[in-house]
Amino acid sequence: MRINGLEFNAELGEILAELTAQLRINNIPLLAKQKETSTHYQVTCPYHSNGMERRPSAGIRKSDGKFHCFACGEVHELNEVISHCFGYVDDVLGKFGWDWLLKNFMTISVEERKDVQLDFSRYDVSDKTNKGDHRLDNNHHSEFVTEEELDKYRFIHPYMYQRKLTDEIIGLFDIGVDIEQNCITFPNLDKKGNCLFVARRSINGKNFYYPRDVKKQLYGIYQLYQLPVFPSEVFVCESMIDCCLLWKNKKPACALNGLGNEIQIRQLIDMPCRKIILATDMDKSGQDARVKLRKKLQGYKIITEVILPFGRKDIGECSDEEIKNLYEVF
Ligand SMILES: [Zn+2]
Repeated sequence: MRINGLEFNAELGEILAELTAQLRINNIPLLAKQKETSTHYQVTCPYHSNGMERRPSAGIRKSDGKFHCFACGEVHELNEVISHCFGYVDDVLGKFGWDWLLKNFMTISVEERKDVQLDFSRYDVSDKTNKGDHRLDNNHHSEFVTEEELDKYRFIHPYMYQRKLTDEIIGLFDIGVDIEQNCITFPNLDKKGNCLFVARRSINGKNFYYPRDVKKQLYGIYQLYQLPVFPSEVFVCESMIDCCLLWKNKKPACALNGLGNEIQIRQLIDMPCRKIILATDMDKSGQDARVKLRKKLQGYKIITEVILPFGRKDIGECSDEEIKNLYEVF
């Protein structure tokens, strides 16, 4: 079921069974009477009559856990009800209940991320000790996302592997999980490694989320400049996942997170590479981006573009084999 937009690996009945069992252990006789209907569980209301009414007058909806009492009119999210039942009556936001749900019924198997020993030799990335610089920087410039916040996201989610990312790439790009928002997180670093913002991609939907008013720089630019020798050719794609998949197949790349803005075009011009390979999506807007980038980069770089295999809309839909053998035209 979904609670507050997060998918839990349990039906309401199971959650209520666990909840009442734990309440009983703690000698709390709330939610004692329950009756299942097709859409709801009817329960004795914990908000009035000391929770001791004779017949259930409240309902909890099976689909999303919304609580509503017909007698006293209280309306709550399930996590708020849980907080209330355990006696956290001041916890109006239901923080305790939310943690309780996560602890007991978290659907996604979130595990501590393995400490990946990056094999930089395969990317010819010199040393990651430079990363220390940006940590120091972060402490001095509050406008950057702190190492502390990034640390909250450093988990592995099975979705990362579904998208064919590897531990090595997850480590290289510091990809993480925002458990509460059910999103994969992508720190966007500047050239020096300062984290400008964290972009999110919802695990269930297809949407990307960026903080409002961010000035997008090229995603992947930090990793490119970490290479001891700047690559002579750089791929430019639209999405961060596409960028990661290109790197995975030994093709240094950066992503626009869109269709290219003035800052990003400046960054492309300034890159010490000879050639830019356009690998935006095969749809209309991807084509428009290619035309625009060709015009802006003309005279600065050699420009080619890739034609994706038939039926593939973007890099993310291509197999590793197809990415290794991308067809390139001038
Ligand atoms: Zn009530």
